[in-house]
Amino acid sequence: MTAIQPHILLVEDEKSLVELMRYNLERSGYRVTVATNGEEALTSVADDRPDLVLLDWMLPLMSGLEVCRQLRRQPTTSNIPIIMLTARGEEGDRIRGLDAGADDYVSKPFSPSELVARIRAVLRRIRPALADEVLEYADIAMDLVQHRVMRGGKPVHLGPTEFRLLRHLMEHPGRVFSREQLLDAVWGRDVYVEARTVDVHIRRLRVALNGERHADVIRTVRAAGYALDVQQA
Ligand code: CA
Repeated sequence: MTAIQPHILLVEDEKSLVELMRYNLERSGYRVTVATNGEEALTSVADDRPDLVLLDWMLPLMSGLEVCRQLRRQPTTSNIPIIMLTARGEEGDRIRGLDAGADDYVSKPFSPSELVARIRAVLRRIRPALADEVLEYADIAMDLVQHRVMRGGKPVHLGPTEFRLLRHLMEHPGRVFSREQLLDAVWGRDVYVEARTVDVHIRRLRVALNGERHADVIRTVRAAGYALDVQQA
């Protein structure tokens, strides 16, 4: 499984907290860039287009709240998910933060795992493609939340069995599965289905995926089975 690495802009002026958060976010699979004041944050968002902004409320020069408002005001940055961080725990501040356009709000002190859980929740809600629920292989992307498959940026329409079949192959790219293994994984052990049924669904999957113009990504291994594998022309 190739996970997409979401890019997080961390806006925080407190050095020790920056290091701690960066360490934990990177360990959780995020790419992190840091801005230490509001101006820098606005520039960084415009230049780097992060997938999510973690925005401290208490910043020098310009408050996090003002940064949040400015990001929301610009059409090019208005959709970026923002989580506000703050030492203030009062309900009134929480409402002001959300009013300014923040998607969520985390009060200090927070545990690293709580923060990561909130990030994942916001990304899942706003950008499911980044919540680690998209499988990618070559030019194929499979969104497990929305049950959608794209190839080369165009939608591919699959039946439920073909979807499960492709999912299994995309979770183990390159690996060869026998018909029996695919039956177990996709149809389940308790269902009696003839092995050649697999061939029928593989054929449908190929037609749907390859269309007229794409290379075949499913390799038939004689006497062994099938694998997801880019064919060498
Ligand atoms: Ca601060």
